[in-house]
Amino acid sequence: MPLDGDPTRDLFHMRHALRLARRAAARGEVPVAAVAVLGERVIAAASNRVERAQGATEHAEMVVLRLASRRVGSWRLSGVTVFVTLEPCPMCAGALLLSRVDRVVYGADDPRKGAFRSAYEVLGSEAGNHHPLVTAGLLAPASSALLQRFFKDIRERPQGKSNCTPSRFADHQAVSSAGEVQGV
Ligand SMILES: [Zn+2]
Repeated sequence: MPLDGDPTRDLFHMRHALRLARRAAARGEVPVAAVAVLGERVIAAASNRVERAQGATEHAEMVVLRLASRRVGSWRLSGVTVFVTLEPCPMCAGALLLSRVDRVVYGADDPRKGAFRSAYEVLGSEAGNHHPLVTAGLLAPASSALLQRFFKDIRERPQGKSNCTPSRFADHQAVSSAGEVQGV
């Protein structure tokens, strides 16, 4: 497969990530998910689990990188493409660089925390010695719609019925209309 990816395969993997993100929403997690692919093979797939794990670093990309490294037996993920439904935050962008993945494909931009081109420039930085190819905006409307619906549901849900109370996500509400948020 060429490094810049086959459009049909890219869509296939991003749809997979979106399905995982939808399931995460049903569990009360901010709906973001990631899939790691080596060649034609999915080697890891995960969704955001910040709430379940009560861990600020449990973003989908971090979990998927951990699983992928375990799977290949190396921290170095050369040849791997990571698909993620939302623009990675600075933490995840840093982890993607350190993992030496070949390519990152993401869906919606995140104007508050996005670290490719929106709020920070980590993933696309010319500094450092590793520069993964980045494809932005794949199925972005689907990802945005999922996030918007998630935050709308939270706002409309009576408090006390779930872990995902509006107060817990208060920080997100200000930006939820754009649907471009991840984590807590
Ligand atoms: Zn992140």
